[in-house]
Amino acid sequence: METIRRVWRRWRAREGKHPSSPPLGDLLLTHYPGAVMLVDEEGLVRQVNPAFERHTGHAADQLLGRRAVTLDSDPLHGDFGRALAQVLASRRPWQGVLLCRRADGALRHHTTMIQPLEADEARSRALLVMQYDVTGMRERELHDRQLLTRLQGTVSRLPGVVFRLRQAATGRLELLYASEGLEAMTGASPEPVMDDIERLLEKLLPEDRHRLETSLAQSAVSLEAWQLEFRLDLAGGIRWLEGRAEPQRRRDGDTLWDGLLVDITERKRVEQQVRRLVGTDMLTGALNRRAFFEQGTAAQARALRHDEPLPLAMLDIDHFKALNDTHGHGAGDLALQAFAAACRECLRPYDLFARIGGEEFAVLLVDTTPDEARTILERLRQAVGAIELEVDEATLRFTVSLGLTTLAPGGSLEGALAEADRALYRAKHEGRNRIVLASGTVLSGAGDDTA
Ligand code: GH3
Ligand code: MG
Ligand code: MG
Repeated sequence: METIRRVWRRWRAREGKHPSSPPLGDLLLTHYPGAVMLVDEEGLVRQVNPAFERHTGHAADQLLGRRAVTLDSDPLHGDFGRALAQVLASRRPWQGVLLCRRADGALRHHTTMIQPLEADEARSRALLVMQYDVTGMRERELHDRQLLTRLQGTVSRLPGVVFRLRQAATGRLELLYASEGLEAMTGASPEPVMDDIERLLEKLLPEDRHRLETSLAQSAVSLEAWQLEFRLDLAGGIRWLEGRAEPQRRRDGDTLWDGLLVDITERKRVEQQVRRLVGTDMLTGALNRRAFFEQGTAAQARALRHDEPLPLAMLDIDHFKALNDTHGHGAGDLALQAFAAACRECLRPYDLFARIGGEEFAVLLVDTTPDEARTILERLRQAVGAIELEVDEATLRFTVSLGLTTLAPGGSLEGALAEADRALYRAKHEGRNRIVLASGTVLSGAGDDTA
């Protein structure tokens, strides 16, 4: 207060030196775009500025001598009356926004300052009330807030999670924002994950977490869109998520991603089902040639990591043409189905069993030594020999010949198949219904190469 008064005195002194310019106080009162009132200790309006009428809609002389709270939206119990009473009692300034009613009844928001005056500044210990209409600003603010609430509602109903992720130049990841859907999707509510992203990252399968970190690092360098499908190991089982986000580099070196997470578990399930159907032979349910090469190559890559050979066999049903000729093609089809069922019985679910020709099949045995493979295939040969198929009052029996080789780590699948095929050819020549090892296939036990 003291400082303001001193400044004021200095202005007054200066004005005295330039008598031609009107006093600042007069200029201010004339041009102030809001309402200014001098209110006495009884709360009655004593003086108003020129803009008062435009601002409040009340003609100045109508309000002079009347209570200032007439302007309040609620003249009896409104905030204006309370604020005036408070300033009168405390002699301390008050500032706030009041809802006031114009003479035409319209409600307006006024930012209001109430300044107590000392007795020497006015005739009595009056109050100076300054108001400025901020209704437009208030309404925009209200509108913005409603928009934000609506937007948050919309975001929370999205079938996914909206997020903002930050990677500091040091590489540290931080989730700056995640919408509410995160909890339904991952079981982790957004707030704790925003505090510590590890709570979410620890749910990723280790191999997927590695892919996530690598793909983010690539996106941070190239500033190209980030996109990744990854798995979370949750209480209810494995869930597949897809993340997509646009990166931007900030001036401090941080990278920000704004994006979306969507649960794609169902899509993945259908995809797998379609892939299984597309890669499966209709008659026997065995893999088809294309799927065998696809999955065989993947199995080979896994075996290569552990430096293990993969046993690979070619199978061909003996005298199948004669069976077809004697009993008909339909009986031949039934025999093919019975053959495939017997083979699957002898193999494990993760072994690859494929129909790669009419009645030619291939088997790739995973995690198996050549000795074990020979034992398994021998059991398979006998199981096929034991099939009895009742067709048209006849009992059909047939046998199978096999050629066995091992696919060397880094060797070609095509080449190994040709090798197995050559061994199979020898099995046919040597009398059929037997297993022949490809040359170079070493078993630890047996010295001979025929069954
Ligand atoms: P080998 O013991 O030397 O193998 O004699 P094979 O009669 O089995 O001779 P090969 O393997 O050349 O004969 C294949 C026959 O399998 C020819 C064809 O009629 C029959 N075949 C191929 N595909 C099918 C099929 O989908 N259904 C039926 N029923 N027969 C098929
Ligand atoms: Mg054949
Ligand atoms: Mg045959």
